[in-house]
Amino acid sequence: MSAIVRHAYEHVPYYRQLFDRAGVNPGDIRSVEDLQALPVTTKADLREYPRQALVAPHTDGRNYQSVVTSGSTGMPLHVHISRQENWLRNLVFLRTFMETGYRLNERMAWVETLHEKDLGRWWFQNWGLYHKYPVCIFDDLDVQIASLRQLQPQNIHGYPSALEILARALIERGITDIRPRVISTGAELLGEGAREIISQGFGAPVFDTYSAVEFGNIAWECPAGGGYHINSDLVLVEFLADGRPAQPGERAEIVCTSLYSYTMPFIRYNPGNIGVQLTGTCLCGRGLPLMKVIEGRADDFVRLANGQTVSPIVLVNTLRGIDGIKQHRVIQEEAGVLQVRIVGGEGSSLKIAAEVEARLREALSDNVEVKVQFVDEILRDSSGKVRSIMSKIR
Ligand SMILES: [Zn+2]
Repeated sequence: MSAIVRHAYEHVPYYRQLFDRAGVNPGDIRSVEDLQALPVTTKADLREYPRQALVAPHTDGRNYQSVVTSGSTGMPLHVHISRQENWLRNLVFLRTFMETGYRLNERMAWVETLHEKDLGRWWFQNWGLYHKYPVCIFDDLDVQIASLRQLQPQNIHGYPSALEILARALIERGITDIRPRVISTGAELLGEGAREIISQGFGAPVFDTYSAVEFGNIAWECPAGGGYHINSDLVLVEFLADGRPAQPGERAEIVCTSLYSYTMPFIRYNPGNIGVQLTGTCLCGRGLPLMKVIEGRADDFVRLANGQTVSPIVLVNTLRGIDGIKQHRVIQEEAGVLQVRIVGGEGSSLKIAAEVEARLREALSDNVEVKVQFVDEILRDSSGKVRSIMSKIR
């Protein structure tokens, strides 16, 4: 930890300023407790700075890529990672899948917003190991079901909202020949209702994973039932209530420090999720610390003109690729109509509006009317949540 703290101070202007303002010398930070001398950073803080202030001048050549996070707030942030860091991140995901029961030679269906061409390949995947078969949730439900039936995957990984839609269809249609051994979910909060339906529809246990684009996989639900094990070898997780360390079991903000992100460091960064720290040991015997995520993104489903229900993450993933959006919120008041509120950044509003409309119509097969409106700010709900996709249809 002290290595990444020192690196951030020496090479990343944002952290140098943060440390200096707080009067902290990086050499003073030797333990997690010492980290508390530094203020917590949020996505909104980082968005105020240009890339040069957030990214270290690169140590291993030109090889780095950027991924965009949108998260529960509808505010995109570009996260830069090197190829090596990305490798490590993917290996951690693989470890997580293996811990929840995946075996390397099994077929894994990947129910996401990706097609085959979008998936990168590792050399060993050409031998059929850890082969991910994409089932794209932009496709029609019948197409998704047919792909799964044909593939007969032993494992399915996907967004809870998308798997819930699929599972409901399987139950309604009495389809019982898609029987994976294990299902894992990620990217959205897995509610207990959704877990039950997914498990019933596919006849398999469901294990959740907790990740953030800024960190990769942070924690994963243990099949032994003790909670979510934190990947503490890669991410340091603190639990804060009103800025002080929370008690075990107390509702807390999750604040993370990445131990491997040298390209774009994240130190005491709040990805915007609520969880609790668990004590005790898990029956599995692993020593990794335990937690539980209790609140995160809880976006609503969207209803199209033809009556079809769509996962909110389809909208989130469609909008996050568009430049010039500082924040967005999609509101649905009637079936088939989406009101998209946008806080604009740089660029022409007309152009952004046209792109939003075109991309959403394409993603939703023209079964939707899109109304774009530019606003100065997007307020929190009365519940205090910031949801980027809200439906008022019940
Ligand atoms: Zn365990």
